[in-house]
Amino acid sequence: MARYTGAVCRQCRREGLKLYLKGDRCYSTKCGVDRRTYAPGQHGQGRKKVSEYGLQLREKQKARRIYGILEGQFRRYFARAERQPGVTGENLLRLLERRLDNVVYRLGLGASRNEARQLVRHGHFIVNGRKVNIPSYLLRVGDVITVRDKSKESPRVKELLERAAERTPPAWLELEADQAIARVVALPARDQIDAPVQEHLIVELYSR
Ligand code: SF4
Repeated sequence: MARYTGAVCRQCRREGLKLYLKGDRCYSTKCGVDRRTYAPGQHGQGRKKVSEYGLQLREKQKARRIYGILEGQFRRYFARAERQPGVTGENLLRLLERRLDNVVYRLGLGASRNEARQLVRHGHFIVNGRKVNIPSYLLRVGDVITVRDKSKESPRVKELLERAAERTPPAWLELEADQAIARVVALPARDQIDAPVQEHLIVELYSR
């Protein structure tokens, strides 16, 4: 269950856009991308010409960083997406979206995917009546996610539920924030996934 533990804003600066990895800070004037618009590192302000391979690599890295996944696991998602019928790139994004930590984030029960992941790890959620503390747990249509009774007393969880009540989750999810209960009502369609990723470039990269 390894995860990236380095500097977070550096990842956005490398991709040249906000990936919203830090929750509320991303909407403040402290955002690293807003403050330093160039890539990190000694050569960050150097040449900008990018090869075709470079473009494909950046797209894959961006997707990995958005969903907080390391290379090995990302490859396994890709292999699984390839085996599924349909368009591989869309299958890949759909798999990533179905992760429990992502669904918690999409419901608004985490200011960032990192926070959602931590809440899952700490056992605040129940899926179909059983406690699940695995961030990569893949949800299916019909699954019911609830907040554990004890967790509803947590000030942070209460605050997140109040915030979530004011937002509309994506159409493939349903949330009753007052009951702290959510359902997966469909698989996400491509136009319901707002990750700024050109998935065909990832497919091209792994098909080399
Ligand atoms: Fe990225 Fe958020 Fe850091 Fe801005 S504050 S660079 S959006 S992680």
